[in-house]
Amino acid sequence: MPSSAAEERCRELVDLLAREHALPIEKYEELVSSFSPSLAAYAAERALVTRRAVYGDDVFVRGLLEISSYCRNDCLYCGLRRSNRSAERYRLSPEIVLACCDEGYELGFRTFVLQGGEDPALTDELMCGLVRAIKLAHPDCAVTLSLGERSHKSYQALFDAGADRYLLRHETADPAHYASLHPAELTLEHRLACLRDLAAIGYQVGCGFMVGSPGQTPATLAADLKLVEGLRPAMCGIGPFVPHHATPLAHEPAGSVGFTCYLLSLLRLIEPALLLPATTALATLDPRGRERGMLAGANVVMPNLSPTDAREKYELYDNKACAGSEAAEGLAELSRRMEEIGCHVVVDRGDARRR
Ligand code: SAM
Repeated sequence: MPSSAAEERCRELVDLLAREHALPIEKYEELVSSFSPSLAAYAAERALVTRRAVYGDDVFVRGLLEISSYCRNDCLYCGLRRSNRSAERYRLSPEIVLACCDEGYELGFRTFVLQGGEDPALTDELMCGLVRAIKLAHPDCAVTLSLGERSHKSYQALFDAGADRYLLRHETADPAHYASLHPAELTLEHRLACLRDLAAIGYQVGCGFMVGSPGQTPATLAADLKLVEGLRPAMCGIGPFVPHHATPLAHEPAGSVGFTCYLLSLLRLIEPALLLPATTALATLDPRGRERGMLAGANVVMPNLSPTDAREKYELYDNKACAGSEAAEGLAELSRRMEEIGCHVVVDRGDARRR
């Protein structure tokens, strides 16, 4: 039973969201600021019913390849930022990436996610060649790119080469909050323009944000939820902020796993067909983070398919989980753990379905 009239009102808002898939921004803010474990459990129940109606209990897996840790950007939260002189940098050769994809294919992956810092060496020529080679070797697989902000021309060339999806978290929908987390040359306006370009070109687009990033408030989170509601992306990646020791935000507290799961549930209700990952940051802060994410309404996991020495150097934040069921070779363990909570890892490209 709800403990108060305020929670009763929030449960009604959750019901309304489950029916309408939209709310006024001030109602999102009320839901965000009223987080409690019991309200989150209520939202998770509704989110699971919603997810099951579209995806059942299927879990889509994506093989994550961290192709470069070089980055020209200086985001205040990220361990790959160019000012982090202690970071060991690496770049995977196309041959290594292709070998990892072959290995991933044998394990049952049908989507490969190529992610990296904004590395000027990842030219259109190099990346288009790599995308073409992966699609030639594995025509039944999807290729997702997550390479940050590029020009329309570049996004178009990569799409024409065969890339299917693009992940570009918007990070925060509030311009002042965005400015507090990034150097002046990076703007929310440009990030959103990139997302619009990607959608117009025909990619399945993913946006997303960190939960608990310094300066985040219920109002900025309400703006994030409203942005997802308006953008209707195919995917949305959210995960708790985790500090990295060599960044200016090293001493900030990490985001909360329970609160992130609550937001996953709200996102599922906003867009029932959303491809919603239980991210590595969740698993980093809680060994059962993936399971908790799935039980809140997520339906995607992205085990690491990069060579082991690269995984450690791709250090966005401290203590990043990249072994056991976080690793592609631990897919059997991941499947077992998912079965324990009634979910089933499937061999499938895992495209967004219609609701
Ligand atoms: N460079 C590409 C981009 O900007 O989209 C892709 C790589 S970037 C490292 C991938 C994501 O990592 C970012 O969108 C950000 O949300 C997340 N990230 C970076 N630092 C983080 C931190 N300290 N805690 C949690 N997530 C973080």
